[in-house]
Amino acid sequence: MSDCIFCRIVEGEIPAQKVFEDDEILAFKDIHPIAPVHILVIPKRHIESLDASVESDANVFGRMLVKAGPIAREVGAHDGFRTIINTGRIGRQEVYHLHMHIIGGGDPLPAMIKY
Ligand code: AMP
Ligand code: ZN
Repeated sequence: MSDCIFCRIVEGEIPAQKVFEDDEILAFKDIHPIAPVHILVIPKRHIESLDASVESDANVFGRMLVKAGPIAREVGAHDGFRTIINTGRIGRQEVYHLHMHIIGGGDPLPAMIKY
């Protein structure tokens, strides 16, 4: 059994509210949503972070991006959204299985990150 929480969701060992799935990627609702729409899109194959990615990951990353719009619309974000991939310590990544947040569904989001 994997000790990666998102691999366990892929394997069906932990429940998740799935909103899209194909052979390479899975999208499900974030357990602690920060907006009316808050979805996580992950590669089914374990990739630790964007910083640990390799050339052969390019196809699955492309699929994650191409599906972002259709997934967002499907769950009610019809007028734009924000995608975020937190990476490593500085990026405050909490789960070390690469995931892309899709956030939106309400009022326009705050402007870009204030440092
Ligand atoms: P981060 O690694 O900081 O980009 O964010 C990890 C995200 O995963 C957070 O927004 C968590 O709320 C979310 N999360 C953690 N565990 C689960 C889970 N079991 N199901 C859905 N979302 C989760
Ligand atoms: Zn994993």
